[in-house]
Amino acid sequence: MGLEEKLPDGILLASVEKIVNWTRKSSLWPATFGLACCAIEMMTFGAPRFDSARFGMEVFRASPRQADLMIVAGRVSQKMAPVLRQIYDQMPDPKWVLAMGVCASSGGMFNNYAIVQGVDHVVPVDMYLPGCPPRPEMLIDAILKLHTKIMNEPLGPKRAAKLADQRVELVPS
Ligand code: SF4
Repeated sequence: MGLEEKLPDGILLASVEKIVNWTRKSSLWPATFGLACCAIEMMTFGAPRFDSARFGMEVFRASPRQADLMIVAGRVSQKMAPVLRQIYDQMPDPKWVLAMGVCASSGGMFNNYAIVQGVDHVVPVDMYLPGCPPRPEMLIDAILKLHTKIMNEPLGPKRAAKLADQRVELVPS
């Protein structure tokens, strides 16, 4: 007989890692931060029709100190890159980055000197979302995939090692 069968009703077994990750993924608060046309779809996602409150993330925070998700919605200009990095650095750990749309993910059609060719040159990206622009339903899908990723993240020293691997140094233009 397994341990779970011996326990009385109402007792739930889980690892600390799973519980911590469940609380983290259930209350992602995005930074209020939009760069270009993709931000319009991100704002639509925050409107009542798409009900982001069901994911515990209806609170877009005006201060990076209170945010743990950066949705990079739009192309990143070279001039904006240090600002984006500063906002990222001001967000407390643990934090995640979602590159929304082809421009944020790879520069998209803006293959020129003025645009960063993928925001992963500036900050570590956890989820890439293609599209121009991605619809709010696509953003929801990416966020749900990010939830799955968060649920499988290690805690403690393993997480610190993973973050060290991901560290991206801002390359001055
Ligand atoms: Fe605009 Fe399309 Fe680029 Fe999004 S991916 S910022 S919609 S051009």
